[in-house]
Amino acid sequence: MPRAVVVASINVDITVTVARIPAVGETILGTSVQESRGGKGANQAVALARLGTSVAVIGSVGEGAAGDDYRNDLASEGIDVSHVSSAHGVATGTALITVADDGDNNIVVVPAANAELSVARIEAATHLFPSADVVVAQFEVPLESTAAAFRRAREEGAVTVLNPAPAHEDGASLLDLTDVLVPNELEFEQLTGVAPTDDDALREACAPLFSRGVAWVVVTLGGDGVALVGPDTLRRIPAKRVVAVDTTAAGDSFIAGLSSVIAAEKDAGGDALSETTLRRACEYATTVASITVQGAGAQPSLPFAKDIA
Ligand code: ATP
Repeated sequence: MPRAVVVASINVDITVTVARIPAVGETILGTSVQESRGGKGANQAVALARLGTSVAVIGSVGEGAAGDDYRNDLASEGIDVSHVSSAHGVATGTALITVADDGDNNIVVVPAANAELSVARIEAATHLFPSADVVVAQFEVPLESTAAAFRRAREEGAVTVLNPAPAHEDGASLLDLTDVLVPNELEFEQLTGVAPTDDDALREACAPLFSRGVAWVVVTLGGDGVALVGPDTLRRIPAKRVVAVDTTAAGDSFIAGLSSVIAAEKDAGGDALSETTLRRACEYATTVASITVQGAGAQPSLPFAKDIA
């Protein structure tokens, strides 16, 4: 079975709806409140597991019931949670999301326990890496811990997939350790200083990334699909035409779909970083994400392998 290790952020999302976004210092009554599972890393891990990849998460939750419940839910998805630790005296990572009737929103993310995912925690989990086909990470846990995980992945011959989200000012420091980089448009611009407006801009902006050792850049472009860019290739893969009801976790499910195909190819002894594999991976991930956008919420809308068929 293909195997993935996800160095994962784990967040509880608390969403409140309001008639309008309150002014500074103002108190207003909200109209609803909903708690759900989130965190880019946890979403990616759940999606990978549902697509049939064996997943181990290295992450950190808060001490107490909220963290324990989340860990149990990850385990019930079939995920190995033996390296999801409880951070002493800290809350589980939390996103406070306020959505107004006109669609305006504001979001405050408190990393809390995610910030406690130390290099020592990665080192305690290094026995997971020799059997890993891919190691997946984002920027919602400390950068030095992700770097430690990617270094270990490289030593063991696993493919590293980096979702540079949310944008991080020191994010470029991980490029030397990254095989497949998957930013959205804004993250791409933040990382390269160039907006991915056309093929020439993409080629030019990706050249320094390839010089750093990145093998492939996959820029996700929302409803416009993705651009798959290699040192000698640029291909556009359109999004599926579907009626999107909620694009939350579209990117996370895309990363999972892409990583699952790369892991399967590696597990089968093939060339996991060939152009053929990456094209197939982008096409599969596009289908996965198109199902996600047709459902509401983050983890509830993540599809299973049978849904893709
Ligand atoms: P999010 O933060 O909402 O999870 P993102 O900004 O990381 O998303 P996007 O580039 O918006 O990522 O979307 C990722 C992929 O999801 C796209 O490349 C596409 O395949 C699919 N997708 C997104 N929006 C749509 C849509 N409206 N219709 C069909 N597919 C979509």
